[in-house]
Amino acid sequence: MPELDLSRSSVELTRMICDIPSVSGDETTLADAVTAAVGGLSHLDVHRNGDTIVARTDRGRAQRVVIAGHIDTVPINRNLPTRLVDIDGVPSLWGRGTVDMKAGVAVQLKLAAELTDPRVDVTWMWYDHEEVAAELNGLTRLARARPDLFTGDFAILGEPSNGQVEGGCNGNLRAIVRTHGVRAHSARAWVGENAIHAAAPALLRLAEYRPRTIAVEGLEYREGLNAVRVAGGIAGNVIPDLCEIEVNYRFAPNRSLDEAEAHVRDVFAGFEVEVVDRAAGARPGLDAPLAREFLAAVGAEPRPKYGWTDVARFSALGVPAVNYGPGDPSLAHHDEEAVPLAQIEDVERGLRAWLTR
Ligand SMILES: [Zn+2]
Repeated sequence: MPELDLSRSSVELTRMICDIPSVSGDETTLADAVTAAVGGLSHLDVHRNGDTIVARTDRGRAQRVVIAGHIDTVPINRNLPTRLVDIDGVPSLWGRGTVDMKAGVAVQLKLAAELTDPRVDVTWMWYDHEEVAAELNGLTRLARARPDLFTGDFAILGEPSNGQVEGGCNGNLRAIVRTHGVRAHSARAWVGENAIHAAAPALLRLAEYRPRTIAVEGLEYREGLNAVRVAGGIAGNVIPDLCEIEVNYRFAPNRSLDEAEAHVRDVFAGFEVEVVDRAAGARPGLDAPLAREFLAAVGAEPRPKYGWTDVARFSALGVPAVNYGPGDPSLAHHDEEAVPLAQIEDVERGLRAWLTR
């Protein structure tokens, strides 16, 4: 088993854990190495659930913070082992996982080992299966087995955010807008009714839709309502009797799931609408006192997060959560992902400043 020496720099640690491949479903080698590295530290109480590791301080502080990161990556595409590179004069580490999100995990591992007496109690969580279906996610499993471990006043996910603090996230809803017709031979189209033509007004509503930008706790969330797929048609000589438009609605976190659904039904009033998937957004939670102290200590400007991340999971449990990690989120899953070394060091400095008494 590869050995992780947590006294090494966070840049060196990033490199070490990136060079232990851990594509979703194949995290055990890295999880074993993490367990071995933190298992011997007397200030941490360590639990293992599958390939998820939880390490907690128990100093009896009045407040507890959960700091989490996933240890899996998307598949490797000739981008391991890592390399130190220079990108337009910026020293960086290149390779799978450097951005999403092993640099964040490396910083967390280093601080977990080093901060034996933090100013708040800390629950460190490193989990598996984030990059695949939510059902497989290590946090889903852990929340079922040990909901008590999610207790906290504030949570930080080390997902890439360019070293800035990203609060909350948009909600996500998918629906099918369906039109019906009457099937007929296209040579005698007048006896049929064309379901694809019947979908035209629905597409027009989408084309003319003006998405809103909504301020929630001072952050501006941009919404979006878009067709993402259209299905219909039987053969080259048949008038189709069914057309389905799949619609994706990304909505600001001040809307509940029911409000979001009502809005979509409103836009498509008169059409058959079936909601097939919905996930609530998360409010930024930046008005929580601990969140405010955190922002001041790391010296970061909060920004909205547009994608859905596990911050929403904590938010649903009543724990305000933010993303704070090194790396450019637009490079996540990119074959050329690379993280500036200075960002890794900045995030380490920020978290240490906040957690040190
Ligand atoms: Zn990620």
